[in-house]
Amino acid sequence: QADDIIGNLMVELAANNMDTEAQVLKTGCFGFCEKGPVVKILPDNTFYVEVKPEDAKELVSEHIVKGRKVERLLYIDPETKKRISDSSQMDFYKKQMRIALRNCGLIDPDVIDEYIARDGYQALGKALTEMSPSEVIKVVKDSGLRGRGGAGFSTGLKWEFASKYDADQKYVVCNADEGDPGAFMDRSILEGDPHSVLEAMAICGYSIGATKGRVYIRAEYPLAIKRLQKAIDDAREYGLLGEDILGSGFDFDVEISLGAGAFVCGEETALIHSMEGERGEPTTKPPFPAESGFWGKPTNVNNVETYANIPIILLKGADWYASIGTEKSKGTKVFALAGKINNVGLIEVPMGTTLQEVIYDIGGGIKDGKKFKAVQTGGPSGGCLTSDDLDTHIDFDNLIAKGSMMGSGGMIVMDEDDCMPAVAKFYLEFTQEESCGKCTPCRIGTKRLLELLELICDGKGTMEHLEELKRLSYVIKDTALCGLGQTAPNPVLSTIAIFWDEYVAHVKDKT
Ligand code: SF4
Repeated sequence: QADDIIGNLMVELAANNMDTEAQVLKTGCFGFCEKGPVVKILPDNTFYVEVKPEDAKELVSEHIVKGRKVERLLYIDPETKKRISDSSQMDFYKKQMRIALRNCGLIDPDVIDEYIARDGYQALGKALTEMSPSEVIKVVKDSGLRGRGGAGFSTGLKWEFASKYDADQKYVVCNADEGDPGAFMDRSILEGDPHSVLEAMAICGYSIGATKGRVYIRAEYPLAIKRLQKAIDDAREYGLLGEDILGSGFDFDVEISLGAGAFVCGEETALIHSMEGERGEPTTKPPFPAESGFWGKPTNVNNVETYANIPIILLKGADWYASIGTEKSKGTKVFALAGKINNVGLIEVPMGTTLQEVIYDIGGGIKDGKKFKAVQTGGPSGGCLTSDDLDTHIDFDNLIAKGSMMGSGGMIVMDEDDCMPAVAKFYLEFTQEESCGKCTPCRIGTKRLLELLELICDGKGTMEHLEELKRLSYVIKDTALCGLGQTAPNPVLSTIAIFWDEYVAHVKDKT
């Protein structure tokens, strides 16, 4: 539909002889999926929502030619019922802070000049001409940036580890294997601002002494792959990737590896094996990839969102970034809001924003006026938070303390009608299907766990089955080889802890 809108706008501009005065530009995602497609008209910043191809005629004849806003396409504030034309005045955007998403919705991701016009590649230039590799690492460390893929490990420390190993070849890898159900943070960044990731990978390469980079991206993301490849080609043409970047003597180039969409390949050792053409199975750590990664060489692996933060950190400084967020979780976090929430979309908020603000102020509350029941954070590895947790300040440590986790940023909201054992079953179906089968606790354990859940959800389970569900969950957590298996029982344990009565209500011999 967006392509049709673009085409129709161009036709209408030409028909009104305005095609030299006004341009139609395609951008990445604005984040407000619920109200898309969106058309923003500059310079007056008018934000039109739910635009259809047939609206192009009126948008051009009224707004562009006569300078009159098309009221019926403006967003209606749900409280005041007034129409709003400036997106910064909308509740959805008011509490957001866009750092990783800073260029998404603002630039044409296929045009490198637009990225450069927004200070793109300046951080790489600064690193290469004004900073030593260790100074770059110090800035990243001091910023407090923690990995956005889920584990939350210090990015600067990770880079420092990789920098310490001597090798004839090192690698920088970007994990774009985003596989959580309902998560689309990394895809949107690559579709909306691919150069920010490439620039960060080159900066990382300079700091750790790597000359080669790889983006491991699932083949189900064709648009992201297309835009990323175009960005790589353009950066090479501009001398921003390849040999002797900006005349500095530093060589760095990036290639793309396509993944087949296995969730386990989000785990860095499985990802590396997959890139080597092996089965995507994890191996025990140590050795960590920083010591022995791709082809056995020192390798730094970060995810898309982590890299997207790097250029602006280098330009604005560690103190600026560290001033945002909470004591131990700095900066912002991108979340994909999905499920029974009014404003489904992609948001970025400072760490420390409360769950209440995310669900109600930004997310617009629960669909159809229903009651909020729970939100699953951390995808299939995470857990549930309920209305008792709405005052939780979202950061890595607070979510863990509440029995959930940040994960990569998926948030699926449930309302009063959702059955929690069924929710746990949904996630377990996913992890059981995605288990790589290498270790017994996960391969067999998740299957047995799912069978128990099916019995319970079908009303054929007993209290003994419930006890077995708990016992087996802990066994799998304690004995599985990698994060996928170790966290697979989390949705079960989390919902059991909070919604035990619902589980009991499902069994035959409730007491
Ligand atoms: Fe594979 Fe599961 Fe074992 Fe991980 S825990 S290695 S996904 S079988």
